[in-house]
Amino acid sequence: MKQILLSVCVALCLATLAAAQARPFPGPDVQQIYQRLLPQIEKIPAFDHHAHPGFSDDPDVDAMAAPPDASAPLRTRDDNPELITATKVLFGYPYGDLSLEHAKWLVAKKAELKKQYSGPAYFNMILDKLNIESSVANRAMMADYLDSRRFPWVFFSDSFMWPFNNERETARNPDEGVFIPLQEKMLHRWMQQENVSKLPAKLSDYLEFITRVLVDNQKKGGIAMKFEVAYFRPTTFSDPTRQQAEDIYQQNASGGVPSEKDYRTFQDYIFRYLIQEGGRLHLPVHIHSAVGIGDYFNLSQSNIMNLESVLRDPRYRSTLFVMIHGGYPLEREAIFLAAMKNVYMDSSEMELIQYPSAFKDTLKNWLETFPDKITFGTDCFPYNEVLGAEESYWLGAESSRIALAAALAEMISENEITEARALELAHAYLHDNAVKLYEGRVH
Ligand SMILES: [Zn+2]
Repeated sequence: MKQILLSVCVALCLATLAAAQARPFPGPDVQQIYQRLLPQIEKIPAFDHHAHPGFSDDPDVDAMAAPPDASAPLRTRDDNPELITATKVLFGYPYGDLSLEHAKWLVAKKAELKKQYSGPAYFNMILDKLNIESSVANRAMMADYLDSRRFPWVFFSDSFMWPFNNERETARNPDEGVFIPLQEKMLHRWMQQENVSKLPAKLSDYLEFITRVLVDNQKKGGIAMKFEVAYFRPTTFSDPTRQQAEDIYQQNASGGVPSEKDYRTFQDYIFRYLIQEGGRLHLPVHIHSAVGIGDYFNLSQSNIMNLESVLRDPRYRSTLFVMIHGGYPLEREAIFLAAMKNVYMDSSEMELIQYPSAFKDTLKNWLETFPDKITFGTDCFPYNEVLGAEESYWLGAESSRIALAAALAEMISENEITEARALELAHAYLHDNAVKLYEGRVH
């Protein structure tokens, strides 16, 4: 009898084990699971961790601008037919193309809705349609037509690194010719905000000015600072002493063109000062970490893995880092940076450049590695007067939800996780992981 019981137990245990054994291909049930998951995933209110909401004529949507005539990956061009689907879903657009004549209908429709939903009500209505509870507004300055309770502000902190004569920096290539003057403008705006009329004579006063901007922006509702430094210079940061930074500041604060080496050394010091302050002030640090727009974006000099020595430096343990755009196209390497307790990955932009079939594989890889460290973002941006942040929000949100349902369906069908666990992971990615980061300041 005992023997029989034991055999039954062994058989049962083996059966359980067999059921738990992951397999390398999804079964024939994968489509059904996907169909079951998708409507549940669409019901999860999302937190959009990276976006640029605003109207196309608003210069504060970003702290920089696209260089003219820049090449864009296929899916991110404004002739992507998926954007017409967006106009149908959001605005009931009745046409199948965006000819000049037809586009007028869309522009008029949006103008009518803006009247009906005046002020902040318009973009709140767009979020409601997409089931996005809140969306980060990564903007130069906040707009009064965005509801700060649903659009927490992430401001830009790069400009503090370009306080000197930028002739050489601006002349490097046509893209920098657009980007660097905008950084000068941004720094000037921070100086105006703090009633600082010219660069302080001493580095200690300059650092104090930087901290004041951070603190005041935080008081104005800023939840994080954002770097897009990868657009402007390589992302390898040396570790200069205070004395080195002071000497370079003394030499250049009142004029003259610093050597490239000196300027970089000074910037390295300022970058490290900013991320340290981010830890002290509980102001998470967002860093653009993917390939960027513009033909001159240098991926080998600015790829995410260059940041590894900074991210794994115990001195910055108390700073929370969000790797915006997940290091794309190095996202498979990049996910391992999230082993650091203070490093999070954001998937925005990847879901726009990649079609859902490819983005599904990206998300699956991330979900199988550090599912508690990944966050959703749309990277929405107003394309032009006709196609705005609204359509861009739709494309980002829809693509992410579809790819998420597909990735989880494969994981369930391949015996990696249960359906209940899949829904927990969906909540975590779309909302909970990001919200937890801000200790109650967002929802
Ligand atoms: Zn962005």
